[in-house]
Amino acid sequence: MATHVHTCPLCEATCGLRIETENGSIVSVRGDEEDVFSRGFLCPKAHGLKALEEDPDRLRRPLVRRDGELREASWAEAWQAVEEGLAPLLEQHGRNAVAVYLGNPSAHNLAANVYAPVFLKALGSQNIYSASTVDQMPKQVAAGLMFGTMLSVPVPDLDRCGHLLVLGANPLVSNGSLMTSPNARGRIRDIRKRGGKVVVVDPRRSRTAEEADEHHAIMPGTDAHLLFALVHTLFDEGLATVRGEPGGAHPANGGPLAAHCEGLEEVERLAADFAPERVAAVCGIEAGEIRRIARELAAAERGACYGRIGTCTQEFGTLASWLVDVVNILTGNLDREGGAMFTRAAAAQRNSSGAPGAGKGVKLGRWRSRVRGLPEAFGELPVVCLAEEIQTPGEGQVRALITVAGNPVVSTPDAERLDRAIAGLDFMVSLDIYVNETTRHADVILPGPSPLARSHYDLALYQLAVRNVANYSPPLWEPEADLEPEWQALLRLTAIVTGQGADADIDAIDDFVIDGLIQRAVGDPQSPLAGRDPAAVREELDGRRGPERALDLFLRAGPYDLTLDELERQPHGVDLGPLIPRIPEVLRTPSGKIELAPEPIVADVDRLRASLARTRNGGLVLIGRRQLRSNNSWMHNLRPLVKGKDRCTMQVNPVDAERLGLVDGERAQLTSDVGSIEAPVEVTDAIRAGVVSIPHGWGHDAPGVRLTVARDHAGVNSNVLADGSLFDPLSGNAVLNGIPVEVAPA
Ligand code: SF4
Repeated sequence: MATHVHTCPLCEATCGLRIETENGSIVSVRGDEEDVFSRGFLCPKAHGLKALEEDPDRLRRPLVRRDGELREASWAEAWQAVEEGLAPLLEQHGRNAVAVYLGNPSAHNLAANVYAPVFLKALGSQNIYSASTVDQMPKQVAAGLMFGTMLSVPVPDLDRCGHLLVLGANPLVSNGSLMTSPNARGRIRDIRKRGGKVVVVDPRRSRTAEEADEHHAIMPGTDAHLLFALVHTLFDEGLATVRGEPGGAHPANGGPLAAHCEGLEEVERLAADFAPERVAAVCGIEAGEIRRIARELAAAERGACYGRIGTCTQEFGTLASWLVDVVNILTGNLDREGGAMFTRAAAAQRNSSGAPGAGKGVKLGRWRSRVRGLPEAFGELPVVCLAEEIQTPGEGQVRALITVAGNPVVSTPDAERLDRAIAGLDFMVSLDIYVNETTRHADVILPGPSPLARSHYDLALYQLAVRNVANYSPPLWEPEADLEPEWQALLRLTAIVTGQGADADIDAIDDFVIDGLIQRAVGDPQSPLAGRDPAAVREELDGRRGPERALDLFLRAGPYDLTLDELERQPHGVDLGPLIPRIPEVLRTPSGKIELAPEPIVADVDRLRASLARTRNGGLVLIGRRQLRSNNSWMHNLRPLVKGKDRCTMQVNPVDAERLGLVDGERAQLTSDVGSIEAPVEVTDAIRAGVVSIPHGWGHDAPGVRLTVARDHAGVNSNVLADGSLFDPLSGNAVLNGIPVEVAPA
C-alpha cells in the first residue's frame, strides 16, 4: 500500500488529498490534514476519482472517424488525420475558418494554462470560444475595466471577514467560485462563530442560504438593481466611506484609498435613479430591507460583498459584477483585512507594463463576431455566437472546430441548434477523455492522461485564493498505454497549424516557448528576474521541460522567491500568509487609479434604468443550480457521484405547482422561445414563487455518446431552453438565469 499526497484536480478549491493505492489501483481517498490550505477537507466529488481512473468509458486510445464510425487508431494515424483535416481548410479558407472551444477543466489544467495560449496564438483565429462566456466573463470585464487586468478580481477575505453579503453564489456547495476556498462551509460557519453575519441573496434557498443569518429571495436577473439600490443608500444616508478629498483615511490601513479612486461623483450621479423604493418591486425585496442590508454592511468592521454565477449569467452581468466592487469600495471594505482583497499569487503569468499601479488596462472589442457583430473580450468571442458562425455561409465561416475538454452542446445556450451546427462542420478534432454530446461529432478525438496521471498546479485559480498559498503535485503515476501528455498534444496542434506538420520537433517548439516566457520575465521591471541574462535563467531551468519548466519560471519570477524544487519538497503546500493590502501596486489601469466609473459601464446604465419600467407578465423564469456531486457536465459518468435519487429535477414553488397542476415526482413540460424539454417535478418552498430551477450540464441520452453510467442518469439539457439571442452586451455572457418559460404537466 502506498500513500500519495495530491491536490484534487477536479475543481478550483485545490483540496489536498491523501490517496492510498495498491497495485496501481486507488484504495481510498481522504482529505490531507496537513494540507496548508484545506486542512483535511474534501467534498464527495473527490471520491469519484477512483471511478474516473477506472472508468472503462474513459478513452485510452485516439479515435478516428472511419466510414462514419469513431474507431480506435494509433497516435500516428490520428495526427495524420488531424493534419489532413485542418491543413487544407486553413489553406483555402484562412485562420478564422477554424474555431476553438475551451471547456472549464482547461482552467485547472497546468498544461492547458501554459500551452493553450501558445496554440491559440499560433492558430491566429478570431473564432475563439470558451466556457467563460457562460460563466464568469462579466466579472473579468468589470475587474479589467476597474482594476486593469482580467484576473484582478478581489476575493472576500473569508477567514477574517465579519459580515459577508453573498449574491448569486452557493459557496457551501461550490467551495468558492472565483474565490478559491477549500472548506468554504467551515470558513463561512466560522464567520458566524466569530459573532459575524452572513446574508444571502438568491432566488433559491441554497445550502449557503440555509446556514446564513438571512436569506432574501430576489427575482432572477435583478442583482444589479439591488446593488445599485445599496449604493444609492450608502450615498443617501451618508454612509459611503471613500469620499471627499484625496487623503480621506482608509479605515483599515490608514491609507488614503480615496486618492486611488476616480469616478466617485459619477457613481453617485448614476445611483440617484435607483432608490430602494424604486427597485423594490423589481427585485422582490422590500425597500426597508434593502436599506438595512446597506446600513449593516457599512457598519460592519470587516465586511465583504461577493457575487458570483447568478449575478454573471444574466442580462446585466457586467453591471452587477461592477457594482459588487463598488459596494466594497463605498463601504470601505476593498483592500482591507476581512474585506475584499487581492490575492498575491506565487506564480502569476505576469501582465506588467511599467511601474506599480499603472498599466495598459484592458481593451475590449478588438474584433467583432462576423454574423452578429458581438465584441471580443480577452481574446474570445461570446459562445452564443458559435452556432451562427458555423451555420452562416460566407467569407470567414467556421468550418472546423477544435474542442479542448469541453462539451458546449450541453454547456452553452440554444443547445439543439449548436448540436446541429457542429454536426455540419467539415472537420472537428477534440482533446477529450470522453465521447460526449459534443465530441461524438468529432473526426478525431485525442485523449489526454487521467487527471491523476498528470501534475497539478492551479495556475489560474491560485490567483483568486482566499489565502496566499502554493501547492504542486507531481503525477501520481504514469499515463496508461501510450497516452500523449496534453502539453505535447497542444504543441503538436501548434506545429500543424503553423505548417510544421505533426512530425515537428516538439522539444524545439517547447524551447522556443520557454525562451519567449523568459524574455517576458527578464523584461518586466517588477520581476525579481528583471534584467537577468536570459541564457542564465534558461540554464537554471534546465533539467525540466513542458509545463513544469514554465511553472518553475513563473515561481522564480513571482513575489516569493520560490522554485519548483521547493514546492516539490513540501507536498502539503506552502502557506504564504493571509491576504495583504495591495493597492496601488496591484492596479494596471492606464490612470493608475481604481476606475469607479469606466465609460463602457456608465454607458450601459441606461439599459438598466430602462428596465425599471418593465412590467412582469406573471410568467415563470428558469434558473440553474449548483450541486455538490456535479461539476458542469463532465462527472456524470462516475457512479459514486450520480447514484441515488434523480438530482436533475425541476424545482417549483408549491404555490406555482398548485396553480399549474404540477405534482411532485411527475413530469413537467418546459417551453421557451427556442426549445422544449421534459423534467421530473420537485415541489419545494426552497424556491421563490415565479421561478423554476433545473441544474445545468445534464442530458446524456444523445445517440453516439459513450457514457454508460451517465446514460442511465441522463437528466435533461436545460440549455435547450436558453436563448442564444439573450446575453450581457458588455461581456457577451449568455443569459442562463431568468429565462422566460411556460410550464405545464407533461
Ligand atoms: S471541493 Fe473541489 S478540490 Fe475539493 S475535494 Fe471537492 S472537487 Fe476536489
